[in-house]
Amino acid sequence: MPTIKAAVCHEFGAPLVIEDVHLAPPKGGEVEVTLGAVAICHSDISFAEGAWGGFLPAVYGHEAAGVISAVGDGVHGFAEGDSVVVTLIRSCGGCPSCASGAPTLCETPYDAVNGPLKTAEGAPLMQAMGCGAFAERVVVDQRQIVKIPPELGKDVAALISCGVITGVGAAVNAAQLRAGQDVVVIGAGGVGLNAIQGARIAGARRIVAVDISEDKLEIAREFGATHTVLGSADAPWKASYKALGGKGADVVLVTVGAIPAYDQATRYLGMGGRIVMIGMPHSGAKATYEPVIMAALGQGMIGSKMGDVVIQRDIPWMVDLYQQGRLKLDELISGRWTLNGINAAIADTKTGSARRNVIIFDS
Ligand SMILES: [Zn+2]
Ligand SMILES: [Zn+2]
Repeated sequence: MPTIKAAVCHEFGAPLVIEDVHLAPPKGGEVEVTLGAVAICHSDISFAEGAWGGFLPAVYGHEAAGVISAVGDGVHGFAEGDSVVVTLIRSCGGCPSCASGAPTLCETPYDAVNGPLKTAEGAPLMQAMGCGAFAERVVVDQRQIVKIPPELGKDVAALISCGVITGVGAAVNAAQLRAGQDVVVIGAGGVGLNAIQGARIAGARRIVAVDISEDKLEIAREFGATHTVLGSADAPWKASYKALGGKGADVVLVTVGAIPAYDQATRYLGMGGRIVMIGMPHSGAKATYEPVIMAALGQGMIGSKMGDVVIQRDIPWMVDLYQQGRLKLDELISGRWTLNGINAAIADTKTGSARRNVIIFDS
């Protein structure tokens, strides 16, 4: 079996180990992608810290882009040499969720422990999130990838495959934002900035960004926030009410996994409004809300996974908007690293001050 370099997690909370692992050639319906870039997402860090459990050893990494280097049988519409983004959305195409247009909720399980990866000794190695992209190459299903223009930088393309579709998709697909609506975005990190620009693209009237970092609020304005609120202030929702002319928002997008953000989300919400839950707290964490208020005010609450995207439909228009200068991607990258520097890149992400750190592979 061919050997590649990968960053392997052997123990939750311990540094990743760069080592040789085996990657099987693509089977039916699969492609091999030689990666140009993979970004570090907070989900990778949560997994590596053991927040959500899972099999070890494992290779995380799921926000990636590269060039197809091998094609399995039964692959349609893709060829060796195509530039693609690689997503974790592995959909079967035939289950009730897929058939009704919700591939992010695909019901067909994927056995990531017995996927294409094996340790150098031939033991099971989990292809976490169906990608295992903290590695030089990945083997993924053809439904997980979308073709992109070859001239598009792989670093910015990688961002589209998770943070961008999650944030922009939450505003456009999950919240179904209409032009003229008022939006509050809690959290101005990687996903939050994308939720803000998704709200801008959808034509929101006023976009209030809430964060506990002044620096992030300044960046939020660059991405389209019309007002900013310091989340650590006393009763911060009052400032939001003021910004929205004395009322709550039509939509509140919670883009961070912090429980205080979830606890406060309803306070920002107006009559008939809805909360979209995007940020992912650790398993077992609980938030509180007052059902009587939500019932009396006709409010709703929905979860959104990966921006409810259909990648084949949504990624091409996002690429177009980027190329037209209407979707910011370059500004999301705060650091570029090598695979060998991945632990430093993860540590930098954990400080909370980074936007996206991207691992670049020399091709
Ligand atoms: Zn992610
Ligand atoms: Zn399915």
